[in-house]
Amino acid sequence: MKIKYLGTGASEGIPSLFCKCPVCQSAIKNGGRDIRSRNQALIDDKILVDFPPDTFMHIVHGGLDLQSIHACIVTHSHGDHLYTSDIWARKKAVSPILDNEGTPLDFYATSVGYEKIAALIKNNEIEDDRVTANLIKAFEPFSAEGYDITPVRADHSPNTDPVLFIIEKDGKAIFYANDTGRLPAETVEYLKNCGKHLDLVSFDCTNGFNSGDRFHMNFKACSDTKQMLCDLGLCDKDTKWVITHLCHNCGGTREELEAEAEKLGFIAAYDGLTVEF
Ligand SMILES: [Zn+2]
Ligand SMILES: [Zn+2]
Ligand SMILES: [Zn+2]
Repeated sequence: MKIKYLGTGASEGIPSLFCKCPVCQSAIKNGGRDIRSRNQALIDDKILVDFPPDTFMHIVHGGLDLQSIHACIVTHSHGDHLYTSDIWARKKAVSPILDNEGTPLDFYATSVGYEKIAALIKNNEIEDDRVTANLIKAFEPFSAEGYDITPVRADHSPNTDPVLFIIEKDGKAIFYANDTGRLPAETVEYLKNCGKHLDLVSFDCTNGFNSGDRFHMNFKACSDTKQMLCDLGLCDKDTKWVITHLCHNCGGTREELEAEAEKLGFIAAYDGLTVEF
């Protein structure tokens, strides 16, 4: 299995549009890994996680080939994870020529995101062999493109009906956990009893060196949660640990963030990072 991190920034990205902090200034100056676009990941070139406004940028600069992708799972309805306006471009009148004509791009989203996608499809009369909206619920597994996917509850803005995903295929599993603060009790309870082995765990570390651990985690919460998942027997020495959804306001530079992540046994994701396992 492999995961490609197309976008690793928090909601405003780095540089943040209106910010003159040192992190944003050095991103403008240096480019490269100092730039963080909005959150999106791709699993095995098959399962797209989230649909941010930077999907366009990920096609132009990140090697994303949307033509070959037919499943997008959506963590929650915040605009940096679900930018519905661009879905319009899959309509026949806008994109007359597609690979795999007749096979739609299926979106899987919880209530609020689902409503947004369904409304977009309806209002723009997008053909159902181009895009579909599929309602998913926390703790109700579903299948897409041959993958078993289990949404679990996140600690994040409740009005976005937020979930995290366990994505499994051929005996391998990814736990993709953002946006979230420390895992809610019902998710810990589920994990305790699920009997799964996690080969890669990806955490939200938006708050970095800062103190907050509600709705997004900081380094302390990521480290504690890593230990908890190991103690529950879900992970072992071969498990890969990644942090993403990284913010210019996290209290450190990219180099400081990477150093702290390494100290705690995490890879700090950057736009374009691929991890195979
Ligand atoms: Zn976010
Ligand atoms: Zn800034
Ligand atoms: Zn969010």
